Amino acid sequence: MLEVKLAGYNADADIIEKLKKEGWDGKNNISPETISAAYARISRDPRRVDELRADSLVEVDKARKSNEAIVFKMGHHSVAEHAYLNFDILGLSRLAVESLQEARLCSYTEKSQRYITLEGDYVVPAEFSAAEKKIFRDMVGRQVAAYVKLFPVLHEYRKKQYPEQLATKSGHNLLEGWAKEDARYALALATECQLGFSSNSRNLEHIIRKLKYHPLAEVRLLGEKLFSATKQIVPSLIILSDPETFKKQFGKDVSDGILKTGYAAASKAVKAVKIPSSKPVSAKFEVMLVDWTKDPDMKIIAAMTQAYSGKSYEASLRAAKKMRKNEITGFYRTIFRDLGEHDSLYREFEDVNFVYEVILSSSAFAQLKRHRMMSISKQPYDVSLGYTVPPSIIETKQKDIFTGIMDETESAYAKLAKTSPVAAEYILTNAHRRRVLLNANLRELYHITRLRMDWHAQWDIQNISAQMAAVTQEAAPLSAALACGKDKFEKVKAAFFKAGK
Ligand SMILES: Cc1cc2nc3c(=O)[nH]c(=O)nc-3n(C[C@H](O)[C@H](O)[C@H](O)COP(=O)(O)OP(=O)(O)OC[C@H]3O[C@@H](n4cnc5c(N)ncnc54)[C@H](O)[C@@H]3O)c2cc1C
Repeated sequence: MLEVKLAGYNADADIIEKLKKEGWDGKNNISPETISAAYARISRDPRRVDELRADSLVEVDKARKSNEAIVFKMGHHSVAEHAYLNFDILGLSRLAVESLQEARLCSYTEKSQRYITLEGDYVVPAEFSAAEKKIFRDMVGRQVAAYVKLFPVLHEYRKKQYPEQLATKSGHNLLEGWAKEDARYALALATECQLGFSSNSRNLEHIIRKLKYHPLAEVRLLGEKLFSATKQIVPSLIILSDPETFKKQFGKDVSDGILKTGYAAASKAVKAVKIPSSKPVSAKFEVMLVDWTKDPDMKIIAAMTQAYSGKSYEASLRAAKKMRKNEITGFYRTIFRDLGEHDSLYREFEDVNFVYEVILSSSAFAQLKRHRMMSISKQPYDVSLGYTVPPSIIETKQKDIFTGIMDETESAYAKLAKTSPVAAEYILTNAHRRRVLLNANLRELYHITRLRMDWHAQWDIQNISAQMAAVTQEAAPLSAALACGKDKFEKVKAAFFKAGK
């Protein structure tokens, strides 16, 4: 008979501490690692799963040993994914958040800069000398002063532009949010933010190992703090990030391999690739499609035929290639007929990939990087790529203040970069740009465009995602035809069917 038992769930750490203080007799057992240990035994122990769990709950030491043997000696690492942890992270710079969020299989919720009141809090990089700190602090002070000047102007502008919004509190907040969102383009990447971060123990271990070798001291400190916050809670599941315990348990040093040397090795390897010094074509575009699965419309038909006809992929592809134009159009009309704006596309839309080179502001990057189902390779921020000016700054004739602060920022950056090239990035702003390479499948592109081309999304990311949709539609006119914001979906779908594409 089917049984589903709730085996565990996130409990607030304050409640757990309260239980401990009140003398709960199983106080040492409050750890998600007992669940991992129980599940780790499932494949070899004939007992019921709930019995295994009850057992590991009373014998935590045994459960820990079992984790060490099964997870680390045998290599059954996925059992560590059953132990889940949540963290409040405060006072981390915008720049450092980027390194944490490289871990794609975790969950993040950040306090939106649209809704916070700027307190002027920022991280002072530990790398800087006293003289560098002075340059840095002076510059941040000037950026904050520019923010303080820009915000009321932008706010008044929005109020005049959308007076109807002033009738409600949420409308008021919306207009204030838009103004804050644009004024913050003048602020540094050193600005502090807050976030909720949740991860299973396997990912957490990987993150801690990776952050340990990061070039920024703040990011290394974050790794240490994550480690010390979890060391007592899930010690048996994060051994690779704990060199001392690893050595004690396994009698050898943990190898961090390319986590430690990867950057240097990659930099050395790419020296062999001789690139002429002429400007790349992609420098002219914000979004450029640089590679993709050829014949994507055809490949999706082939993949779906394979999945739903019982025939091989090779036979399906051959048959798809013989289809006439009206048959291909008919195929997409059939599969799109019942598609709603909240429905996922068929899984076979993951069988085609698009690689984009994108030049975007830090602000747009902060949003784009949150889409976890794609691969992102990022370059450092690059002042030669310019900066993004919010249209409202131009419309309110504040461009001089804005460009003035950008010029000053770039000269402070140049001074800092001479002696501290990596930490100098902290002084660059939300407007500064970088070049990234994105590899997304078509199913994820649909997801991105639904959220980010929607009117609720911020203008900068709307612009980038709309360009991604446009270049994809050129390569995949049928399969990508309905990639658009949620708010426009019904219209775009109706146009697709009307055009009889
Ligand atoms: C208008 C708007 C406002 C926003 N405001 C904020 C904000 O204030 N603060 C903030 O932090 N973020 C904010 N976001 C970001 C948002 O919360 C998402 O993190 C971001 O849009 C990425 O999308 P996603 O999580 O749906 O999916 P992606 O990461 O793009 O993944 C695609 C799909 O894969 C699945 N998926 C991926 N990872 C997981 C997982 N770990 N568990 C379960 N399913 C998963 C989901 O089905 C998801 O839809 C905002 C986004 C929008 C559009």
